[in-house]
Amino acid sequence: MAPLPGGCYCGAIRYAITLDDPESQARTSICHCSNCKKFTGGEHGITTKIPRSSFEIIKGKEHVRVHEADNGSGVALHREFCGTCGGPLLEYGANAGDNIYVFYGTMEDHARDQVEPKGEFFCKLRDPWMPEVGGIF
Ligand SMILES: [Zn+2]
Ligand SMILES: [Zn+2]
Repeated sequence: MAPLPGGCYCGAIRYAITLDDPESQARTSICHCSNCKKFTGGEHGITTKIPRSSFEIIKGKEHVRVHEADNGSGVALHREFCGTCGGPLLEYGANAGDNIYVFYGTMEDHARDQVEPKGEFFCKLRDPWMPEVGGIF
């Protein structure tokens, strides 16, 4: 099927995700942990897990910046973002294997439609005003 397009906030970086079947190969999750709040500036992070081999930067590779840090549990977490606008692109932990987690909002509208969220993590850290998302686990 046609690649799922996306990019950073300023447009300097553009990427394409090529999957035969997004329904089975991609998994979008919401995470309420404090790292996700800090990195994204929102109440939660929302990322789509995909095989690393399906992701390709098609424009602006030179703008990609990397931040690596222990995520608090002794595992190195690797985050990529745009050096021009600061917008997040993707992340993966040292134990993520051959998968990466692309920040959901960086995908274009019709791409996000194909990978709606299926799970939620760190629900105990959900802010009190934030309702549970129905129909996922
Ligand atoms: Zn940018
Ligand atoms: Zn998180």
